[in-house]
Amino acid sequence: MKMSNMLISTLREVPAEAEIDSHKLMLRAGMIRKMASGIYNYMPLGLKVLKNVENIIREEMNNAGAQEFLASAVLPAELWQESGRWDVYGDELFRLKDRNNRDFCLGPTHEEVFTDIARNEIKSYKQLPINLYQIQTKYRDERRPRFGVMRSREFIMKDAYSFDKNQEGLDISYNKMREAYIKIFNRCGIEAKPVEADSGAIGGSNSAEFMVKSEVGEDDVVFCTACDYAANIEKAYSTAEKSEVEELKPLNKVETPNVKTIEELVKFFNTTEKRFAKTLIYNADDKIVAAMVRGDREVNEVKVSNALGGVVNLNMATPEEVFKATNAQVGFAGPINIKVDVLLVDEEVANMYNFIVGANETGYHIENVNYNRDFEGIVGDYRNITEGEKCPVCGGKVTISRGTEVGHIFKLGTKYSEAMNANFIDENGKEKPFIMGCYGIGVTRTMASIIEQHNDENGIVWPLSVAPYHVNIIPVNIKDEEQMKIANKIYEELKMIGVEAILDDRNERAGVKFKDSDLMGIPMRITVGKKIVDGEVEFKLRISEMENIKIEEAIEKVREEFKKNKLSVR
Ligand code: ATP
Ligand code: MG
Repeated sequence: MKMSNMLISTLREVPAEAEIDSHKLMLRAGMIRKMASGIYNYMPLGLKVLKNVENIIREEMNNAGAQEFLASAVLPAELWQESGRWDVYGDELFRLKDRNNRDFCLGPTHEEVFTDIARNEIKSYKQLPINLYQIQTKYRDERRPRFGVMRSREFIMKDAYSFDKNQEGLDISYNKMREAYIKIFNRCGIEAKPVEADSGAIGGSNSAEFMVKSEVGEDDVVFCTACDYAANIEKAYSTAEKSEVEELKPLNKVETPNVKTIEELVKFFNTTEKRFAKTLIYNADDKIVAAMVRGDREVNEVKVSNALGGVVNLNMATPEEVFKATNAQVGFAGPINIKVDVLLVDEEVANMYNFIVGANETGYHIENVNYNRDFEGIVGDYRNITEGEKCPVCGGKVTISRGTEVGHIFKLGTKYSEAMNANFIDENGKEKPFIMGCYGIGVTRTMASIIEQHNDENGIVWPLSVAPYHVNIIPVNIKDEEQMKIANKIYEELKMIGVEAILDDRNERAGVKFKDSDLMGIPMRITVGKKIVDGEVEFKLRISEMENIKIEEAIEKVREEFKKNKLSVR
């Protein structure tokens, strides 16, 4: 394309609203523009990249035997009521009514829709397995939209749903998706590692998230330094640290006026955090629940929610609720005689000796508390694993890094097929629910993640596979007929062999053109200037030194780059 015909929206200034590199650069390169909080328009340049990412995904999904589909984004409430999610999805669901006052929502994900399609269209085991996918706009009224298209309220997702007749079939479908995802992210030029993820109340090792390591990521990912183990911290099992055996001492109530936080308590008792057990009180779907962890540990709310059978709304209890449960102000909760529906006790706490807890009386704590002798609860793993702890698989040391989730694969089993009565007839003529899997990729988030991994002080550095244009041809002086002639010739020849080229024929200084080219991240630049008298042009990759080449070599140079990147041209 000739740049004089293009809408170029590059910005020199860094927009104040953007915090992270990808967001800043997408705005500065003119890829996206904001309409409202978490709602973006894709400008021509952004759309080109988006389509390239989509095509990589499409090719690999097709290669894996999945079939493309397109569902509506406007979904009738009835479907969501059938699965039970109309009531539990919460405020993230964009709800609306039609003129007849019927309820609808804008689809945040499409399990219900695809389950409905399957129950209507697939009758027999002979038709299985089936994997349907779509690349479609999703709507989620996120509590905190941020980082541009990383976490937006409207975004594009590739979502796929597999239907199998049995568990073995699902395992195969799932592994195919896992392999396809590895190829997709490789081709997009990002390192995304599958890590064990929480599967909510369904449980088991049934889900993996594809994580890109990133300081601006919103997830904590646990990696073992000795083996391959990797898991989201929400899921990573923490091994209880063993306490030294002590003789059980008698309980002792201690007056601790205004001493509430662990820090204050450590000072007051002149001991370490490990000597304490904290009791946190939650409202879990209107039940009052307490969770106990050692003084230096953090409660893992996902583990707590799963232990309770999959809680929808887990919130810290209000001071009033705390008072009801403990008869005390916040800061003095403990397990002895606490009035809660469920008391969850972290394994580590159950193994401690003579520890200190709140007395359930304002201004008091109790020393020498011991599990079993003084209280009981449901013992389990309810805390976050921490840096340097034991790997649950090999016992090696774990390390924790921030990560961004770009994809998620999930063995659903019969969760939706049972709820929605979606059955097929098996080999023996019996009705059976479909065994399902679902597989998502955040397409727009992937695009932003590519930029996070590929940029420098001058702008974006697109991998050739997703670049909006491959080559930028820059005539230094557009009034110079010879320069324009050569630039045009290279441009036409590149187009002929299927290379996406742009020709910067704008009446701007060369410096401006170079800056824009770098900011937009175009992988190759061919500058046509005064050296044409020697039969030469300049060839430059986005992040390497410029070299002078013969005019006739230009096309071959571009071809070589494609070859190096394992991409084909005509
Ligand atoms: P997160 O924990 O980041 O909110 P999620 O678990 O809600 O993600 P899924 O429901 O598994 O995400 O959605 C599939 C994929 O869609 C995610 O892996 C992610 O890449 C993408 N995605 C989810 N929410 C958003 C959003 N608000 N903006 C952009 N992409 C998103
Ligand atoms: Mg989410």
